[in-house]
Amino acid sequence: MTVEIISVGTEILMGNIVNTNAAFLSEQCVALGLSCFHQQVVGDNHDRLAEAFKLALGRADIVLVSGGLGPTEDDLTKETAAEVCGCKLIEHQPSMDALKAYFAKRNIPLTENNYKQAYMPEGGKVLENPNGTAPGVIIPYKADDTGDADKKAKKYIILMPGPPGEMKPMFLSSVRPFLKKHSPGTIYSVTVKETGIGESSAEELIKDLIDTQTNPTIATYAKTGEVHMRVSAMAQNKAEAKKLIAPVVKEIKKRFGKHVYTTDENVTLEEAVVKLLKKRGLTITFAESCTGGLLSGRVVGVPGVSDVYKTGFVTYSNKAKHKLLGVSKKTLKKYGAVSEECAYEMAFGAAKAAEADVAVAITEIAGPDGGTEEKPVGTVYIGCCVCGEAVVKRFNFSGNREKIRDNSVSAALRMLHAELV
Ligand code: ATP
Ligand code: MG
Repeated sequence: MTVEIISVGTEILMGNIVNTNAAFLSEQCVALGLSCFHQQVVGDNHDRLAEAFKLALGRADIVLVSGGLGPTEDDLTKETAAEVCGCKLIEHQPSMDALKAYFAKRNIPLTENNYKQAYMPEGGKVLENPNGTAPGVIIPYKADDTGDADKKAKKYIILMPGPPGEMKPMFLSSVRPFLKKHSPGTIYSVTVKETGIGESSAEELIKDLIDTQTNPTIATYAKTGEVHMRVSAMAQNKAEAKKLIAPVVKEIKKRFGKHVYTTDENVTLEEAVVKLLKKRGLTITFAESCTGGLLSGRVVGVPGVSDVYKTGFVTYSNKAKHKLLGVSKKTLKKYGAVSEECAYEMAFGAAKAAEADVAVAITEIAGPDGGTEEKPVGTVYIGCCVCGEAVVKRFNFSGNREKIRDNSVSAALRMLHAELV
């Protein structure tokens, strides 16, 4: 069973809005075990809409459409879909009643053009929209002799409103159960998240598993300093899929050892770090130069962090590094603020000043100016002090100031994870 997603709206084509509906719908289809090979974006134009529907019906069984169900002249989705499926639009009494009630409740006059929202394709299954005025609809389509080879094949166009706040609830309450009936099974995935290992080395480590994969399958994704491996299995139900996945996840965890920080899709690296600190009963502080509090910001974003995080330092100038963290003037003068020595003293000094067990310090040249031949833009020193023992690492990142700062924060979290695990 294949699905094609069509997002209708000139605004999407022009780049005025981001197509989050398509992302939501794809993810939902994957979870239902439905294959989605194509997506289309089309403007509010009758001919191009008709062409998009015909193309989709020629290669997919179910066409999921969002947008263009509103009351205005440029909302043509329903009219065009009905035409392509060869059905008339007829008044749908429950929708008319709901429309009138919606306007009465809000005390706004019902204008003539609104009535068109209560006209639905004959033979379609109307989907209620408790969050707006445009109902959705499932329209059956029988291929004729100008269409599919299999003339009896029953296909469907499913129309949903564009606003995500209306489309998502409608999908979940009405469309999802319909799709589920047509789905061959369920797809269930587990994501193994790793840090401190590059994507190509990671793939190399499990090459044999990837080469022989069928069900489950393994997909790798690289994310600033992290590698995520999604193991997905297709089965009759979730329990069966879990059974198929378990041995593969176990094997991946075995091979990556300490690099694995979670197998929970929703857990981030900073959450894993906070969990480790809690487990070991350690408090933490950060001393940041060019990252200006970004690292603190990410860690403080974790709920329940107050057990481990008390304070942090943004020490941008040399004076601040000396005054707040006790970095010696000699070090600053001899080696400079962006140096192994300075990162070391910053980490020690921060731990002492904050009376914390763990301190991470970042000092870097984020650019665009300030680079030298020996220390070009992107040179970053990160110091990590755990219970009186410190390590410092040098990194060389590329990209603009924003990217270098982001990479530094990720590297600091990776280093911290490696030191704590
Ligand atoms: P309305 O009754 O509001 O006109 P509609 O069904 O006609 O609803 P559109 O006019 O196509 O829908 O879109 C209305 C709004 O919904 C857009 O301005 C946009 O904010 C949001 N929207 C539409 N399509 C998408 C999409 N694919 N992804 C994210 N948001 C969308
Ligand atoms: Mg509209």
